[in-house]
This record gives sequence, C-alpha cells and structure tokens, in this order.
Amino acid sequence: MNIILLGAPFSGKGTLARQIVEDFHMVQISTGDLFRENIKNGTEVGLLAKSFMDKGQLVPDSVTIEMLSKRLESDDCKRGFILDGFPRTVAQAQALEKIAKIDSVIQLDVPFDEIRRRATGRRTCSKCGEIYNTATYNKTTCEKCGSPLFQRDDDNLETVNNRLEVYVKQTAPLIDFYADRLFVVKGQDTPADTYKPVKTFLKGRL
Ligand code: AMP
Repeated sequence: MNIILLGAPFSGKGTLARQIVEDFHMVQISTGDLFRENIKNGTEVGLLAKSFMDKGQLVPDSVTIEMLSKRLESDDCKRGFILDGFPRTVAQAQALEKIAKIDSVIQLDVPFDEIRRRATGRRTCSKCGEIYNTATYNKTTCEKCGSPLFQRDDDNLETVNNRLEVYVKQTAPLIDFYADRLFVVKGQDTPADTYKPVKTFLKGRL
C-alpha cells in the first residue's frame, strides 16, 4: 500500500507518518528530510534547496521530482511507502502518477491559527527525528534517544506565514486532484486522537 500525507506545514504529517510506520511497517519518505540530509552533506542539491527552504518557498519541481524518483527506486519502497511532504504541486502529483501507484491520500485538516501556535515551539531530535513542542515538553534532549533537540531554520513565524501562503496557492489544489482517494482527518487534537481514525481507515484497506 502506498500512501500520501497531505497537509499544511505543522499539520502533523511527520508525527502521523511515524505512527503508521510502527503499525504497518512501511517506509516513510519525507522530501523535507531528504533535502535536509543533502544540506548536511553539502551536496549540490542541498546547496540549491537551502536557498528556497530558508525563505519558505518550494524547491523547483524538476529537482524535487528527480530526488524523489531516485528514492522510490530503493528496495525498501517495495513493501509500501508513506510520502510526507510530497507532492506539493500539481506538476509533482502528475509526475508521481507516472512512477508509482498511490492507493490513499490522507489529508490532515488543521486551522491555520493552531498551525501558527505550533510553529515557533517545534523542536526536532537531531538523531532520530522525533518531534516535540515546547508547549508540552521543555527539555533540550530527546526522550527516546537522549540526543540534543534543535529548532529548524525554517520554523519561525515569518517563514511559516510564507509557507502557509505557498500551501494555499500550490499544494491545496491537490485536495481536488486526489478527490477519488482522499481521507480527511481533523488534526488539531492530540497525536493519538488524530491517529485513531487513520488506523481504522488503513486497516480497512489492507
Ligand atoms: P518539510 O520538512 O516537509 O516541512 O519541508 C521543508 C521545506 O523543504 C519546504 O518548505 C520546501 O522548501 C522544501 N520541500 C520539501 N518537500 C518539498 C516538495 N515536495 N516540493 C518542493 N519543496 C519541498
């Protein structure tokens, strides 16, 4: 089973993906993580991506689609994958149709006020990628692996407002694009509340 998680930044795609991975043993592919890895390794793709990411803009389709296509060729994708943060434009969705069969698209619906509230408090584990929020967790190390937490360069209010604008203009049209495979879930409550209907839905699809 191949799944897409669709939603604005901070809607909880990463957290939801981790829960699905645990129960359904699929691989999570986050294009944001792939770009951050490229930045860390100082690759050409990373250098190019950083200039867009820092402004809250999308990395050009050609670069993103090529990076994702290569990732999907790996053996670990054969059992099924969850795409977190891809596609983000109709052109990306059209390209994806040609390389993979997407069974379900789960849309996380979160009010933008809640998203802005979450934005500045997000902290990410530098090792395992676990996500925390300072509103509910004020330690500086990860509860799971003990590694230091960090604040992403693009997790500030100005960049988040840009990212929300980009989401409305470029990504929200995908809700119509995937109307035939869409499952909408409210994402403003706890991760457990959000995951419950998703788990039931996915079990029914197995
Ligand atoms: P994320 O970690 O998903 O919030 O992504 C962080 C940033 O990476 C985004 O704001 C974009 O600049 C870039 N990015 C991630 N995925 C994509 C994508 N599918 N298309 C274009 N840019 C992307």
